[in-house]
Amino acid sequence: MNKKNNEEFITLLQTSGFIFKGSQIYGGLSNSWDYGPLGALLARNIKDLWWSNFIKKDPNNFGLDSAILMNSKVWKASGHVDNFNDPLFDCKNCHSRFRADKILEELDPNTNWEKFSNQELTQKIKDNKIVCKKCKSVDFTDVRNFHLMFSTKMGIIEGSQSEIFLRPETAQGIFLNFKNVYRSMRKKLPLGIGQIGKAFRNEITPGNFIFRMREFEQMELEFFCVKNDVDKWYDYYINKANAFLTEELGISKEKIRTRAHEEDELAHYSKKTSDIEFNFNFGWGELWGIAHRGNFDLQQHQNNADEDLYYHDQITNEKMLPEIIEPSVGVDRLMLATLTNAYNVEKLDNDKERIVLKLPYKIAPYKVAVFPLSKKISKQAFELFTKILNWDISATFDETASIGKRYRRQDSIGTFWGITFDFDSLEDNQVTLRNRDTMKQIRIPINEIKNYLMKDDIH
Ligand code: ATP
Repeated sequence: MNKKNNEEFITLLQTSGFIFKGSQIYGGLSNSWDYGPLGALLARNIKDLWWSNFIKKDPNNFGLDSAILMNSKVWKASGHVDNFNDPLFDCKNCHSRFRADKILEELDPNTNWEKFSNQELTQKIKDNKIVCKKCKSVDFTDVRNFHLMFSTKMGIIEGSQSEIFLRPETAQGIFLNFKNVYRSMRKKLPLGIGQIGKAFRNEITPGNFIFRMREFEQMELEFFCVKNDVDKWYDYYINKANAFLTEELGISKEKIRTRAHEEDELAHYSKKTSDIEFNFNFGWGELWGIAHRGNFDLQQHQNNADEDLYYHDQITNEKMLPEIIEPSVGVDRLMLATLTNAYNVEKLDNDKERIVLKLPYKIAPYKVAVFPLSKKISKQAFELFTKILNWDISATFDETASIGKRYRRQDSIGTFWGITFDFDSLEDNQVTLRNRDTMKQIRIPINEIKNYLMKDDIH
């Protein structure tokens, strides 16, 4: 997508009901976004599809919904209190704040700046004569760590409140419940536990629309297995995530790639990690991380909580901490990738253009739009619309402007079928059904619409 198309793409999403600026009437809040009616439908459809593929249809996996607020000791044990921070420095003149590793990466992308100490980064910034991007000053503070976890206070009595954190990942809630789940579900290894929920990170350099936010939603699966099977399940979940992207969300194969992390790039808990990256309009970016977390987390919680978290194998009588494979993906990034991939500007025969959002039927916010040809037959068309809603098919009703304009509008928000109710419909009980992608139209009896729309092979 070129720059102009990207701007039109973002404008479309913001004006057609997908994504609104958060706290808009108060001037906004940086990088906070609200999902409008269409965005909320799309997000829900994507989450349902993930839940169905990774939990419901999988004989090994279970769902969970753990609390956002957890005992602070969880984050000390998980390593987040000590390790989850970014190296920052401030411009003393205009107070702009920058991430040292990212600024130096722009000069030298081949060096892994994450490995440098804050003192070394401070020196490198001086040596490279970095100037403030905003005011061109060269007077900076030293580099220091900035914590990515949001904290708040719990309790009502002033002075006796304790500091707690908003979770920066949903995974820890799963580790804490591993024993509860395997015991209550009476399931042997391998077993997976997945959940969908909000995570919060005080990101320093948020941006690129909904790619990097401070409040976002994750869909995480922690898959517990024996050591010998780790490589098998690691590959299995890389393939499964790729298949989900291409087969369920319709993302083109050439827009994604799987990249294994270099040893010195790995997070503190990880033994190996692969990222599935998507070619966003601003370049390649991480979409889905698949990590081998070893048994780091269970071990840490077992030590810190002084609680036996061993898995007891009833047959061999062996006690062990399972190894963990974690496929983790953000709902918001997945939405951005899906929308970017689906956005098409097509040339039409009459030299005009149409924007069409080619979202797969399963995730399209609206499956059907009903149009009365004239306002005189609005009432009858509206009856058909409510009938379709009662079949539990997501639909919309549009009676403003010409039929051509209504088709264009629905194409641009990804509505899969258009149904035009005309004067003949009053007589012959038939309507015209138009397909979004082929623009082909057929005449169909009203009482056959339901069965037709529910057929799998027509989408
Ligand atoms: P990045 O390198 O982009 O900061 P990360 O490696 O920190 O990402 P993980 O901790 O692996 O990300 O989180 C798992 C997934 O959660 C990511 O693949 C991404 O889809 C999503 N995610 C992480 N941070 C954000 C964010 N700030 N905004 C939106 N989604 C996010």
